[in-house]
Amino acid sequence: MSFKEGDFVLLVAGDRRYVKRLSKDFSLNLKDRLLKLEDVVGRNPGEVVKGFCLLHPTLEDVILLGFDRKTQIVYPKDSFYIAFKLDLSREKRLLEFGVGSGASTAVFSRLAGEVWAYEVREEFYRLARKNWEKFDLCKNVRLENVDFSVVDLEYGYFDAVFVDVKDPLPYLDKVWKVMKPGGAFSCLLPTTNQVSSLLRDMESLFCHVEVVELLKRPYKVNPDRLRPQDLMTAHTGYLVFARKRI
Ligand code: SAM
Repeated sequence: MSFKEGDFVLLVAGDRRYVKRLSKDFSLNLKDRLLKLEDVVGRNPGEVVKGFCLLHPTLEDVILLGFDRKTQIVYPKDSFYIAFKLDLSREKRLLEFGVGSGASTAVFSRLAGEVWAYEVREEFYRLARKNWEKFDLCKNVRLENVDFSVVDLEYGYFDAVFVDVKDPLPYLDKVWKVMKPGGAFSCLLPTTNQVSSLLRDMESLFCHVEVVELLKRPYKVNPDRLRPQDLMTAHTGYLVFARKRI
């Protein structure tokens, strides 16, 4: 349970947070407080050393502070809700395409039995793999570096599908075919006109359609002056959910 060399640690100092690996050359300098490997190794989660609270990072910490991001990612506030709406569990097989930096896949992989994932660009395929390997994630993900439109998949094979590509419309018929009847579909889109186009195309293929936007409004945690933070990430994406009808 105590920290050892090679572990990842979440360091919390006031409103600063860092996810770091405890390697031989680990050091963190904040306001003249220098934290070194020997200060952390052997300590327990929850201990405070030189003003840093030492914790094991959660998946949210890993994604937001540890992943190398070269694409827009699905923020955990959205991906955890998507996983819930897709009703992921160990019995379910998920299809995902548009893997990008691998952030949403890391969340889905934790809940689903299997994830079949496709990323067309080699640099992002490699990036997602690198992020997952670094944090020992996504063992149940079959990731391929290929365009989803050319993969050969069985009719009715997937319990759930998540799509995060610039234009999902050209893939809708194929997505419908590879889903189990009644299966759950979700897609993230940044603009409302894209959502309108998708809704029109979905009409004859899906039922129980929902469009949702989730706003996360963090607060300054001062008990005497409790109020929202001045700045927030005001828009991430519109989430579309639906079920396959036959
Ligand atoms: N969901 C990812 C995450 O949370 O890290 C981010 C995905 S990123 C916004 C969109 C990705 O879709 C890009 O990496 C792009 O290369 C990929 N993409 C676009 N069209 C694709 C296709 N037809 N098949 C597979 N990947 C595709």
